[in-house]
Amino acid sequence: MRLETTAVHAGRHKAGGHANRGEGRPHVQPIDLSTTYGFRNTGAAVESLDRLVEGAGDAPNPIYGRLANPNTNAFEQALAALEGTEDAVAFASGMAAVTAVVLTAVTRCPRRESNIVAVRPVYGGTDHLFTSSLLGPEVRWTTESAIAAAIDEDTALVFAETPANPTLRLVDLESVVAQSADASKRIGRAVPVVIDSTFATPVLQQPATLGVDVVLHSATKFLGGHGDALGGVVATNEEWARALRQVRIATGGIVHPMAAYLFHRGLQTLPLRVRAQQEGAVELAHRLEGHPAVRRVHFPGLAADARSARLLETQQRGPGSVLSFEVKGGARQAARLVESLRLITPAVSLGSVDTLIQAPASLTHRIVDEGHRLDSGIPAGLLRLSVGLESVDDLWEDLEQALTAARLTAA
Ligand SMILES: *Cc1c(COP(=O)(O)O)cnc(C)c1O
Repeated sequence: MRLETTAVHAGRHKAGGHANRGEGRPHVQPIDLSTTYGFRNTGAAVESLDRLVEGAGDAPNPIYGRLANPNTNAFEQALAALEGTEDAVAFASGMAAVTAVVLTAVTRCPRRESNIVAVRPVYGGTDHLFTSSLLGPEVRWTTESAIAAAIDEDTALVFAETPANPTLRLVDLESVVAQSADASKRIGRAVPVVIDSTFATPVLQQPATLGVDVVLHSATKFLGGHGDALGGVVATNEEWARALRQVRIATGGIVHPMAAYLFHRGLQTLPLRVRAQQEGAVELAHRLEGHPAVRRVHFPGLAADARSARLLETQQRGPGSVLSFEVKGGARQAARLVESLRLITPAVSLGSVDTLIQAPASLTHRIVDEGHRLDSGIPAGLLRLSVGLESVDDLWEDLEQALTAARLTAA
């Protein structure tokens, strides 16, 4: 089946036999908010419990809401189908997903002390989690081309984000996978590659098809798509999924069933939303680039960027709908611009049906040390724009009047 069909149908058989066909069966999956499930036969309950504790996504008796939930599992099956992976595991937030991935990688790494090899920039929360060593492993920040050299016997995982938040830089996935494979040969143990694919969604890239072991999303963004549910999800192979569920049971980071339902519903319109929002972003990127008050636009779709143009042919099916730009005059003018907007909402987060703007240096990446922020291409005046589904002309009129207002104060 093609992606659009999978997006609409995947995971829906969970509604009972055949979702839309069974006589009198609900057409959409009912939301199951129960935290516990009754049992009559202790033996059967124990069998279900054992199955879940070993990392299965479902069992005849879900037993307890921290172990399993039908809406959660339906969303997981659907997302795995879209990513082309054997399984997926859903969490209470993107950061809960990152945490579970790190803890799982550490338990799978035979060394007493382990490290994470990671490429900046990544989402500010991830940067902070790694830099603080809160979960144990030390982080080794490196560049995309130096990954193989940074990996040693103690490396538990390689982590990168593409397109990266907020610079929209693309990471060459085939190169990362090849470098990890080279280093794995050297140290005699496979080092898993973890990719945060939040900005691309499975509509624009499927990292697992290029050999990436673990694909992560903040479902809060595009997968939900309407700014009303917090969650994360990890698409991966069966072995990793089992290990992730064991960590999820132990640490309690499972997604709420209502959120899982909304994410599953969101997947049905994901291809449509991603492409329509992308269309708006392409247009706005070009208009912004041509505006005299704009210094620079960061967007994989702009022709000047030959490297991302190549990657847009090989690993990504389109530039996406998030862009960032620098205005002339720097941080003060950027702040003035944001304050002058009337339609576009100043807010963190992205991937929603409405257009959001924010300055990463002051908000999402505030927690990252200033030197590292500047090194990874996040100056104080950089603005990140997540383009929604509004008319591109309305969005442009709003940006244009705000750019004019910002420039007036500069003069
Ligand atoms: C938002 C975001 C996260 C964190 O997800 P939450 O759902 O907010 O915990 C991780 N990675 C990227 C790229 C994000 O944009």
